[in-house]
Amino acid sequence: MPGLHECSLYKKQEELIKEINENKEKTELQKNAEISNIKKYEICQCLACSHKCLIQNENTGICGVRGNKNGLLYLLVYGKIIAEHIDPIEKKPIYHFLHGTSTYSIGTVGCNFRCGFCQNYDISQARKFLSGKEKTPKEIVDSALQSNCKSISYTYNEPTIFIEFVKDTAILARKAGLKNILVTNGYMTKEALDFLQLNKKESLIDAMNIDLKSYNEEFYKKICGAHLKPVLETIKLAKKRKIHVELTTLIIPGENDNIKEFEKIAEFISKIDKNIPWHISRFFPMYKMMEKHPTEISVLQTAYKIGRKAGLKNIHMGNI
Ligand code: SF4
Repeated sequence: MPGLHECSLYKKQEELIKEINENKEKTELQKNAEISNIKKYEICQCLACSHKCLIQNENTGICGVRGNKNGLLYLLVYGKIIAEHIDPIEKKPIYHFLHGTSTYSIGTVGCNFRCGFCQNYDISQARKFLSGKEKTPKEIVDSALQSNCKSISYTYNEPTIFIEFVKDTAILARKAGLKNILVTNGYMTKEALDFLQLNKKESLIDAMNIDLKSYNEEFYKKICGAHLKPVLETIKLAKKRKIHVELTTLIIPGENDNIKEFEKIAEFISKIDKNIPWHISRFFPMYKMMEKHPTEISVLQTAYKIGRKAGLKNIHMGNI
């Protein structure tokens, strides 16, 4: 049913209380206070992304689309598709997987980040406007097949926040011979990646473009309202699970355009796999960053050279 759908990835009150009781480091007084809080506010905990929001009854988490109703967590945008397009796969950007094909791209409203440079801020930062065209997973797959797409991309906003809909669609897509692509900020939990496994050996997700927005914790804190480490972990884990991974860094003047940062990113990628494609993308004034200038092409070229020096084999400059 489109709209309200009970989430799979969360902890109910009983589990939270059990964990508190098992914690040997806390005094009985502390435990009692926490447990009474959980009961009073009917708190549950979402496990989809690394915010791991503790959510009170009648409230949503940071993303605005996963809400607590009487102690149960619901996805409020299940099947509520706000954006739906047939895109060249290179637009995701994915350059080294199903090259030259079209991908059926969908997204909902909401996001777990608050990036001031977001290109889709009208949908990613929308909170109260939870409507969208109602579509079932089967209808999405049928539309993808009819439009001769070879894959479905979960994109435009952060797919982790509507992961239950991603999974239901991905299962049907896989059966129909379509590939599944996540375009993500990488802030998902290990539990979320586990949830997207078809079985112990195989993920339902065939390819991911993951934003590595910066290699600086301060950047993630100040600009995205998040942390760097979980993103690095997702990149490593996705590679381990044999998912095709490409990375994107939007280079923003004065924020993440220094040589040290380029070196750290290039070194990080190089240590995992020198074949991972790195998309270095040019910034244009957007949303809350209208006062900034577009990135100088020479800065992208510097990042490119640093990536090459670190041994990266596939570097692509974008938005130029
Ligand atoms: S997806 Fe992330 S931001 Fe949204 S409720 Fe869950 S933990 Fe919070």
